[in-house]
Amino acid sequence: MELINHFKDFSNVSIFLAYNVNVDALKYLADLSDIEELKENFSDSEIKMKIEEYPRTIEKPIDFVARLIHAMKSGKPAEVPLKNNLEIDTFLNSLNYNEERIGGQVGIISNLLSILNLKKIIFYSPILAKKQAEMFENNENLVFPTITNGKLVLKKPIESFKNDELKINRIFEYKEDIEFYLQNEKITTPQSNRFIVASRPENLRIEIKDELKSHLPEVGKLIDCAIISGVQAIKEEYSDGKTAEYYLNQVKEDIKLLKKENKDLKVHFEFASIQNTEMRKKIAESILPEVDCVGMDETEIANIIHVLGYEELSEGILKYSKIEDVLKASKILLEKYNLEGMQVHTMYYIMYLCKKGGILSDESLEKTLEFATVLASTKAALGQISCIDDLKTGLKIPHNKHGELLKEIVENISKEKELGGYKIILVPSRIVENPKSTVGLGDTISAGAFVGYVSELKKLKNK
Ligand code: AMP
Repeated sequence: MELINHFKDFSNVSIFLAYNVNVDALKYLADLSDIEELKENFSDSEIKMKIEEYPRTIEKPIDFVARLIHAMKSGKPAEVPLKNNLEIDTFLNSLNYNEERIGGQVGIISNLLSILNLKKIIFYSPILAKKQAEMFENNENLVFPTITNGKLVLKKPIESFKNDELKINRIFEYKEDIEFYLQNEKITTPQSNRFIVASRPENLRIEIKDELKSHLPEVGKLIDCAIISGVQAIKEEYSDGKTAEYYLNQVKEDIKLLKKENKDLKVHFEFASIQNTEMRKKIAESILPEVDCVGMDETEIANIIHVLGYEELSEGILKYSKIEDVLKASKILLEKYNLEGMQVHTMYYIMYLCKKGGILSDESLEKTLEFATVLASTKAALGQISCIDDLKTGLKIPHNKHGELLKEIVENISKEKELGGYKIILVPSRIVENPKSTVGLGDTISAGAFVGYVSELKKLKNK
């Protein structure tokens, strides 16, 4: 309880979040019959061939089934963009979904931070349809920026929506140990996870509209930190000729404008799965130099390192999940982009790598990660966090059984010469055996750890 009380009060922190809010339609795949239903219109050989082909966008129902089965076989989280057309839209709409709720990193993190009682959460999304606006917490601390008569006005989401197109992601959550056959190959899901078909409406541009853009330095003065996410939705090219470079430059500019009159502003970049390797590289190279902290899961860090030329290290991480390799990759990114902190979360741990010399103690950093694991275990157990009291559920879940060993490994690695100048803090995860949902767990971990970090920094500075 001491831990929860320590973080109960984030009221010293104000934050800005951009750019992605959507609706998530969830379908739970619990047993063989759920898989059979999705497979029934295709032959196994057809599916197998498509899996080999590995489509990087979903344009036809067969692409969807192939990528879903591929993901289920690995048990790793995956997200693949949808290319809208009548056939695939009709197919996806015909499936029965179990639930609809707020999605997108900004949507998920906004509601979480609102419940954690931050002083102010200013969230931005280029589109805000009524259905999305209604899914936000209706709290005084959660606001959307608009410009009225040339002035910045912060209003509740429910007072801010427009007649915008709805972005809806379909999420397929599967359980561990589902068994099925593809021809004569027996597939067993190694763990519960999710597969996301991400919608990418042509009219949705990842940017801050001009009117608000000129007020970003003013927004920057109202906040202590910002989380940038959703850039994975940027396309290489748009029908009007605008390109990924154009939008990535806009994002860089937005970060600079936010920092313009607030030099202490901390900016965190939340990664996501980016299928297109060229885009992944462009995003890393343009955004990472502009931010202070980054949050990634194991697959994401392996994929980034891959496009930066470290293929062997990347494959090692994906195959063996060794902490040593994850640390090597973290160090590469920290140095290359001059980051203040790298946070990596895997099924078994959450870890920080930062340079020695920061003002926060190891204990203080460890507390922020511990808090983040409690947020994740709570959300995994309950499906969502509705109030601070819910966190007692997560706190009751013990660290996973590899925890002690993981800590020992890190202690030993810390002594190595190459890591002499770095602080490594690892906290084991609290794994929920039958999670209600795994969507947004990584975002929850990253947001909790980052806001905890900023809150601790502020407490120290104001002493
Ligand atoms: P991401 O892949 O970025 O969404 O992050 C998922 C993270 O959530 C993992 O790295 C774990 O730390 C955490 N997580 C996943 N499944 C569970 C679970 N069943 N119980 C608790 N934490 C989980």
